[in-house]
Amino acid sequence: MLWDDFMKSDYHDWRGTGHSEDRLDKPGWLEQWLAIHNLPYPGAPSTKELDELRWLRGHMRRIVQKLTVRESADPADLEGLNRALSGGPMYLRIAESDSDFRLESIPLEAGWSRIGAEVATSFGRILTDCEPSRLRICENSDCLAVYYDETRNRSKRFCDDKLCGNLLKVRRFRARQKAAKAGSSSIPEVSDIIQ
Ligand SMILES: [Zn+2]
Repeated sequence: MLWDDFMKSDYHDWRGTGHSEDRLDKPGWLEQWLAIHNLPYPGAPSTKELDELRWLRGHMRRIVQKLTVRESADPADLEGLNRALSGGPMYLRIAESDSDFRLESIPLEAGWSRIGAEVATSFGRILTDCEPSRLRICENSDCLAVYYDETRNRSKRFCDDKLCGNLLKVRRFRARQKAAKAGSSSIPEVSDIIQ
C-alpha cells in the first residue's frame, strides 16, 4: 500500500546494528516509491515540502501507536492528517473494467501536496474502510515498522516473518543455548529449535 511503503522511509536497521536513516533524504528513494505506486514524481521536494512529508509521517505513526494500545488518536494528529488531505484537491470519476465499477480520484494539482494527500487518503482508508485494530508495530524493537495485519487470526507479530520474525527466533534460541551451557536448567526444548 502507498501509506505503509511511505512509512518505510523512516528506516531502522532491523538486524540491530543501531543504524537508521531517513530515506526521504536519500536521492532516488521518493522517485522509486512513487513509480511503484504509479504516481508521477513532481521533482525534488523543497525543504518545506520535505518537512510536510515528515510531519505527515509523524502524525500517521503516532495514530498507529495510540491505536495499538487501544487509545484514541490524538486530535492534533487527526488534524495533521486532515491538513494533508486538504492539500490535494481532486474530483471523482466512475470507471468501468470487466463489468466492475470503481471510483477513481483525479487530482487537480501535480505537486507534492497532492502526493501528501494521496498518502493521507491511503492511510485514511485503513481507518475508515478497513479495521484500524489490525494496525501493528513490529515487535522487533530494532525495527518498529508499521504494518496492517491481514492474517485471518490477527496473529502477525512482525513486519516480515522471514526477516524480523526469524531473527528474533534465532536470538531466543541462542539465548537459551547459552543459558543451558552456563549450567542453567533452561535447556532448549526441541519444539523451540524446529519452530
Ligand atoms: Zn520488523
